[in-house]
Amino acid sequence: MTDTVARALPAAIPDAEWSAAVRMVRELASGGRVLLICHVNPDGDALGSMLGFALGLRSLGVADIQATFPGEFEVPAPFAAMPGLDLLVAAGEAWADPDLLIIFDVAAESRLGALADRLDRARESIVLDHHASNTGFGGVQLVDPHAAATSVVVEQLLDRLDIPLDRGIAECLYIALSTDTGSFRFDMTTPRVHEMAARLIATGLRPAEISRRIFDSRPFGAMKLFADVLARAELEPGAAGGLGLVWTYATLDDLARHEQRPYVLDALIDPVRCVAEADVSVVVKQVAEGEWAVSLRSKGAVDVSAVAVALRGGGHRLAAGFTGYGTPSEVMATVRDQLNHQTAI
Ligand code: 5GP
Ligand code: MN
Repeated sequence: MTDTVARALPAAIPDAEWSAAVRMVRELASGGRVLLICHVNPDGDALGSMLGFALGLRSLGVADIQATFPGEFEVPAPFAAMPGLDLLVAAGEAWADPDLLIIFDVAAESRLGALADRLDRARESIVLDHHASNTGFGGVQLVDPHAAATSVVVEQLLDRLDIPLDRGIAECLYIALSTDTGSFRFDMTTPRVHEMAARLIATGLRPAEISRRIFDSRPFGAMKLFADVLARAELEPGAAGGLGLVWTYATLDDLARHEQRPYVLDALIDPVRCVAEADVSVVVKQVAEGEWAVSLRSKGAVDVSAVAVALRGGGHRLAAGFTGYGTPSEVMATVRDQLNHQTAI
């Protein structure tokens, strides 16, 4: 990689952090209450990493395990058959003062919402993550910005704990790995990623069946919603220092009109980012009156995580996000400003 962000990152997770994490799990998991949390509006990597590790803990004989996430307690339909969902509890039921807290795919404390207080109240905490923008919160930090997914870090921790991959764990980790690599297409799809996929598939899971569930299935209403939202997309060839910008927005009214849940919009960035004339793509999704979840993607020329971080969000160099305020036009004005700033550097 040629970007300066990647060069400034630490090479790997230090041995001392790995041993501390292994020691904590061994000591606190036997007889202790273990609370696992992933980020708000969980995606495949967040849920899959968390539930895969939860199943691993269960196979170690850990009795008291809770897995949860902040915000609305809704598992997106594509993940409704993920193994380990029986370990999931609503955030309101999560132990207030667990013995061990383990956090997955969370780049910043703000992504823990109302559950952020567990960081102070848990006896010990471990963070497993792969975001370049990770702020360094929590006790033991297993953060590898070169990992394609948080699930890559999870697989290594399971290995260090001598927990064998069974089919349930493997299915969770496969969903996590394939979603964060865009089905093994994105930037960080290394030989190591394919080796991990091979180990997961060797447990007997069915990639075609999983992919159909996760990527290739959506309600008719979602397709009609996408049609409306894509029809209002705008192309700005001169934006981002001439690299090009394509963007669109979806409102709560769009969702209501087509009777769709907000998570169906997670997949909307995919057709938008395919537009050949633009390096940068943006989808602005309404979450409340005047509040928008913004998804940013780059084909490679722009570091969109820098844009997101400047707007108090985070993510990766080529895939990032933040919360915007006002109207879609106002949100896009802040994005254009940041893009001009980034491309002028
Ligand atoms: P997506 O666009 O798929 O929601 O997110 C792309 C990437 O940006 C993910 O790695 C996600 O964790 C990160 N991201 C998205 N929204 C936010 C946000 O509001 N804050 C932070 N810190 N990261 C975000
Ligand atoms: Mn991830």
